[in-house]
Amino acid sequence: MKQEQSYGGLDRFRILAAVLVIAIHTSPLGSYSADADFFLTRILARVAVPFFFMVTGQFVLCPQFFSSGSKAGSVRRPFGQCAGGGEPRAIWNYLGKLAFIYGISIALYLPLGIYAGHYRGLTLAKALQMLIFEGTFYHLWYFPACMLGVLLVTFLGRFLGLKGTLFVSGALYVTGLLGDSYYGAVQRIPAMTSVYDLIFQISPHTRNGLFFAPLFLSLGSVLGGKSRKAQNGLGESGKRTGQDAGGKGILWLLSCFFLSVVLMAEEGFLLRGLGFPRHDSMYVFLVPVMIFLYEILLSGKSRPMRHLRTVSTWVYILHPAVIVVVRRAAGIMHKTGLLVDNSLIHYAAVTVLSITAAILISRFEDLIKGGRTPGTGGSESKDGKRARAWIELDRKALSGNVEALRAMLPASCALMPAVKADAYGHGAVLIARELNRLGVEAFCVASAGEGEALRRKGVRGEILVLGYTDPSQFDLLHRCRLTQTIVDYPYAEKLNGYGKKLHVHIGVDTGMHRLGIGYEQRERIGKIFEMKNLEVDGLFTHLCTSDGEALKEQSFTDLQAKRFYAVADDLERSGYSCPKLHLQSSYGILNYPHLAEDYARAGIALYGVLSTREDTGRWKEILRPVLSLKARVACVRRLNCGETAGYGMAFTAQRDMEIATITVGYGDGLPRCLSAGRGFVLINGRKAPVVGRICMDQTIVDVSKIPDVKSGDVAVVIGKSGDEEITAGDLAEWAGTISNEILSRMGARLERVMV
Ligand SMILES: *Cc1c(COP(=O)(O)O)cnc(C)c1O
Repeated sequence: MKQEQSYGGLDRFRILAAVLVIAIHTSPLGSYSADADFFLTRILARVAVPFFFMVTGQFVLCPQFFSSGSKAGSVRRPFGQCAGGGEPRAIWNYLGKLAFIYGISIALYLPLGIYAGHYRGLTLAKALQMLIFEGTFYHLWYFPACMLGVLLVTFLGRFLGLKGTLFVSGALYVTGLLGDSYYGAVQRIPAMTSVYDLIFQISPHTRNGLFFAPLFLSLGSVLGGKSRKAQNGLGESGKRTGQDAGGKGILWLLSCFFLSVVLMAEEGFLLRGLGFPRHDSMYVFLVPVMIFLYEILLSGKSRPMRHLRTVSTWVYILHPAVIVVVRRAAGIMHKTGLLVDNSLIHYAAVTVLSITAAILISRFEDLIKGGRTPGTGGSESKDGKRARAWIELDRKALSGNVEALRAMLPASCALMPAVKADAYGHGAVLIARELNRLGVEAFCVASAGEGEALRRKGVRGEILVLGYTDPSQFDLLHRCRLTQTIVDYPYAEKLNGYGKKLHVHIGVDTGMHRLGIGYEQRERIGKIFEMKNLEVDGLFTHLCTSDGEALKEQSFTDLQAKRFYAVADDLERSGYSCPKLHLQSSYGILNYPHLAEDYARAGIALYGVLSTREDTGRWKEILRPVLSLKARVACVRRLNCGETAGYGMAFTAQRDMEIATITVGYGDGLPRCLSAGRGFVLINGRKAPVVGRICMDQTIVDVSKIPDVKSGDVAVVIGKSGDEEITAGDLAEWAGTISNEILSRMGARLERVMV
């Protein structure tokens, strides 16, 4: 199974970028060479902030925002339309998060700012200027700049499309440039000087959300989208270019990057010689430097490291405070000569302390988040209430899996968990409610009845019925606000004929030949958009071999994706407002991360297992099983050599032994074919093999090798006991099926509890 991801490079570079920002504020080479320090802090380190803008652009604005040309396979949507499909929820979520971080940072630095006399003679206008452009403390300008930039680019994208947005962002950048490191040129032209005087009255620097952020935000979005497209195998060559350094040779990219850095250095030193800079955040050559740097980072394949995202943010926020602390501490310890005066040691001290503090805080954040979920941990006392056989759902494992899957997807791709078949036996209401709490706002079910059951229990969000709904149940779709899959064209006509407005996703058959309209029938798909009672919210397909590793299977998946994108593209070209797209189920997310669109229909992986035992084992560090199936020991007895046990006298004792009868059977979902030693359960951390035939409600197991087994003890059928573990994948292998079947057959009479 492939595990490549292209976001790992970005995640790792975040730390470097944060460390570069510290360099800007501490001048590490200051004690050695002014020129070297100028190069490091005023030129090289200037990549840090644009990098953060670009990452934001890629993940928040619209990763699917491909080139605006009409090359085959491109899917074009205006900025902001993609994240939440018309309602840019992801953007608002992000802005809210940023505002929150900005708020915390403001509070954090307020005392320091007051102490430094930063807010003396503050007027309302000044306060607003600080809040919107300058930041309330000197490095905090980044947060409002990012927010303002995101709003601006979203707005521009709506009205101007990609090219227009890039053009305007570029023009704004040039305007900013002239107020930054090229200010000397402005000063020579009096008319310009007065224009810039005006600008500076509003914002003291031009490196802000208006002039600086938009260009890098839009570039990040475009490059991110392009890289995804290349990986989708829809690049010009039509083959899977994503496999080899994003299509372009890495050497070529590196050469271009170094050349641009050299040119930027030339530019920086030249401008400094001319005495032009008023500030030194913006250069002409910073733009190509960033483009090549970003392409290089995207071309590598490594696991995403989500925690680095939090750590780098905290390093950014905290380092000025750490600078103050280091200086104070050095003063108190009379070590100023070493810790402060030597610029390199000072830098190292600030960096190490900042990173340590950031790691501690992000750990603490995890703790708080983890601590908020009540009732965790195993519970002997709770077991006491569970009389016969029951399912325990591990809340932490579920949230961990949600987090892990989200980390594999771009921010604009939301999880749309499959909670069909009673959430794969876990209990659909329990699971969906918990997922609601974790911010999941979309689900798929198999039938309208399943959807109704969720609505009755107050489950929020979009609920997509993946299967056929009989016309006699169309009113259920309407009443329960369910979204119906179009299974073929005549079915669409029937739905339209119902008369009331219904929400639908169009299923596209790209080769599985189960449900959906054939990908070749593009005109008919277009016609559905014209049906007056149907609201087309989505377009999706199902990959039928995304779990396969064989070349044949991989190329079929690529073909399916290609067919799907061709349909989406065609609709876009024909002017139909492009709905939400989704292709991936669990294996699609894991094996084809670049096929992430608006939704990912995670099923089995969300429950912490994969279809086979082998895959489950392979991903066990990342996905943790949510479900345990447990039962009780009813009684323990002796079986003498030669005696038989169970139906059909199928088992004969070869020696004297101890057997236990446990309170679970095939009526609870334990496959009967695990009879006669094929399966085992765990009691007190030890294996107890099945003896004879599994009954409907009970099973006999051999406990000869387990000391002190007594009535009332817990027998684990799926889950952990001591150091031993049985996964649904194990049961599946013994039974010759996949874990999906084992789980979805869990009996209705089992009690289900979230622990
Ligand atoms: C069941 C189902 C899923 C979820 O599949 P998993 O492999 O369990 O992730 C996704 N899409 C469709 C159409 C399905 O039927």
